[in-house]
Amino acid sequence: MKKKRNKETRPNLGNSIYSLTHEELQTWLENHGEPKFRATQIFEWLYQKRVEYFEEMTNLSKGLRDKLNESFTITTLETVVQQKSQDGRTMKFLFEMNDGYTIETVLMKHDYGYSVCVTSQVGCRIGCTFCASSIGGLKRQLESGEIVSQVIKVQKALDEQGERVSSIVLMGIGEPFDNYDEIIAFLRTINHNKGINIGARHITLSTSGIVPRIYDFADEKTQVNFAVSLHAVTNERRSKLMPINKAYPLEKLLPSVKYYNETTGRRVTFEYGLLGGENDSPDEARALAKVIRDYNLNIHVNLIPVNFVPERDYVRTPRSQIFEFERTLKEEGINVTIRREQGHDIDAACGQLRAKERKKETR
Ligand code: SAH
Repeated sequence: MKKKRNKETRPNLGNSIYSLTHEELQTWLENHGEPKFRATQIFEWLYQKRVEYFEEMTNLSKGLRDKLNESFTITTLETVVQQKSQDGRTMKFLFEMNDGYTIETVLMKHDYGYSVCVTSQVGCRIGCTFCASSIGGLKRQLESGEIVSQVIKVQKALDEQGERVSSIVLMGIGEPFDNYDEIIAFLRTINHNKGINIGARHITLSTSGIVPRIYDFADEKTQVNFAVSLHAVTNERRSKLMPINKAYPLEKLLPSVKYYNETTGRRVTFEYGLLGGENDSPDEARALAKVIRDYNLNIHVNLIPVNFVPERDYVRTPRSQIFEFERTLKEEGINVTIRREQGHDIDAACGQLRAKERKKETR
């Protein structure tokens, strides 16, 4: 991953050490007269032992611990709410940051392990008409450390049960490709073998379709699973659901997906949210199959039954029609699954997360 972050444009809120990649920490150490191998020691303390204070890093000199203390904090997130779904398989965390904004993170239990759905921005400016995260627009970018910290916080909750986060999805609030450099830094740290050490194939990044960043991400040649929120296969319908389609219409988006397939050799997932009466007829399933064939794409389609958002007036596609849509795609030779749903009762399902600013007096 070659992109360099522009430090000038980073918010640098609270200076969390989690924002530094292993490489950046090595540079910091050298600039402070310390050997670079200490970066690995510090990473082990932060990500494997998950300490909360620099004082606990007992194999570092007192002088270095003092320097770290003066320059950084460890986490800048405070857990304000931790809710469990009735079936016990989903947990939603509400974290407050230094400036009073809150973000949501979701922990899901699957048969194969635990996955964490992280938030990449405070709010979102993409404006998809079916999603709660866009209501109120974009408040600010998250620093990579604030994203890393979500994973550590959730892992610490799992530590109590002796369990481990096994996969990560970048599908919480925000558009990851609208915060590209911080996302790349986040991926480096969670993937690093002295960091959280989650394999790239256990990480999924989802975008609404910011085409130039799709080319950039393809060129990074990561093994990360890559998903594009498609939702419709005509420009007219897609622009209505996702205004980003006006800037990057299908004839720009689909070739970028082809480039991704070719450059990385990896299949891409199309997320297709079924919105009752909007995009869920068998004809639309056939049109989706045709687009995939016409552009000669290597695609897996993941069907998402739309989740309720009070401010949005979409209705769910009935179960039987979801199966019909799936069957039609299969008949067309398309690889397809239906996303398993969880976390509705605590508003933790897809599209239900939102960013809020908490009132000062309640802090
Ligand atoms: N911004 C990124 C990632 C966040 S959302 C993106 O757009 O891909 C993860 C997925 O949930 C996206 O496919 C998104 O379109 C979908 N989604 C949003 N609102 C939803 C809702 N109300 N019901 C079901 N899925 C929704």
